[in-house]
Amino acid sequence: MTIAFIGLGIMGSPMAANLVKAGHDVVGYDLSARRVAELESRGGKGAAGVAEAVADADLVITMLPDSPQVEEVAPVILAHGAAGLIYLDMSTIKPETSRRVAREAAAKGVRALDAPVSGGERGAVDGTLSIMVGGAAEDFEAARPVLGALGTTIVHVGPAGAGQTVKAANQLVVGGVYGLVAEAIVLLERSGVDPVAGLDVLAGGLAGSRILDLKRHSMIRREFAPGFRIDLHHKDMGIAVAAAREAGVALPLTAQVAQLVAAARAQGHGSLDHSALLKVVERLNT
Ligand code: NAD
Repeated sequence: MTIAFIGLGIMGSPMAANLVKAGHDVVGYDLSARRVAELESRGGKGAAGVAEAVADADLVITMLPDSPQVEEVAPVILAHGAAGLIYLDMSTIKPETSRRVAREAAAKGVRALDAPVSGGERGAVDGTLSIMVGGAAEDFEAARPVLGALGTTIVHVGPAGAGQTVKAANQLVVGGVYGLVAEAIVLLERSGVDPVAGLDVLAGGLAGSRILDLKRHSMIRREFAPGFRIDLHHKDMGIAVAAAREAGVALPLTAQVAQLVAAARAQGHGSLDHSALLKVVERLNT
C-alpha cells in the first residue's frame, strides 16, 4: 500500500519506520524537516506538505499532538485524498473531534477511524502497541493488516469516537498508577527502606504492572527524559475529565490525578516524562 504518514514525532517516527519495514511505500510529512529527513534515511519518502503526502495514498495516518492539529490537518486530507481512502487518526484527541471528523469524512467518501494507541515509545519502536479503534466494522477490517505492523493488541471497540473514549480510560489508569508508584517510592525512601528492593517485590506481586516493570528503576534514579510528556498527559486528563462530565459520571480519583498532573506542569515539568509525577509527590513532602 501507499501510506501517507503525518506527524513523525516520538511515536510517529518509529511507527512510520515499521510500516516501511512491512513493505509499504510510506510518504511522510512533519512540520519539522529533521523528522522528515529521518524517515527518508529509513527508506520512506518525504513530502513538502500534507496535500502532497496524501495525493497518491491508499491510506493516511495522522499521529499529531492534540485536537487542534487534527482539526487543521484533516480538512486538507479530505480535500486531497481519493474517494475510498482510509483515514486512521492515531493521535489522542477528544472523542467529539473524532466523531466530527468521521462525519465530514463520510460526506467525502473517505473511511475514517479513530485509532489511538497505548504502549509508549517502546511499543511504537517494537511494533507492539495496543490499538483501540472506533468506526465502522468493515473499515476496521480493511485497515487491520496495516495496523498489524504497528501493534499486537488491536481491538475494534465501537463506533466513531469509541477508540478515544477507551484511550481516555487508559490514560486515567496510567496516570493513577504513576501517582501511586511515586507515593510508594517516597514512602519507602523516607522510611529508610531500599526502594529498589521494595519495588522489586511489588513488581512480582498483585501490585505488579507494566509501569512497575518498565519504569521503576528510572523513577528511583530520577531519570525523566520523555517518553510521554507531562504536557500530553495533562491534555489527556482534560479529555478524561470532560468525557466523564459528558457521560454524567463522577470519577473522583481521576479528578485528583488530573490535579497532580496539572501541578507537575505548573511546576515547570511539562516537557518531562509523566513518571515525573514523582517530583510533585516529593515537593508535597519537602
Ligand atoms: P510529538 O510531539 O513527539 O509528535 C507530534 C509531531 O507532530 C511533531 O513531530 C510535530 O512536529 C508534528 N506536527 C504538529 N503539528 C503538525 C502539523 N500541522 N502538520 C504536520 N506535523 C505536525 O508527540 P508524540 O509523543 O509522538 O505523540 C503523538 C500523539 O500520540 C499524541 O496525541 C499523544 O498523546 C499520543 N501518544 C503518545 C504516546 C507517547 O508515549 N509519546 C503514547 C501513546 C499515545
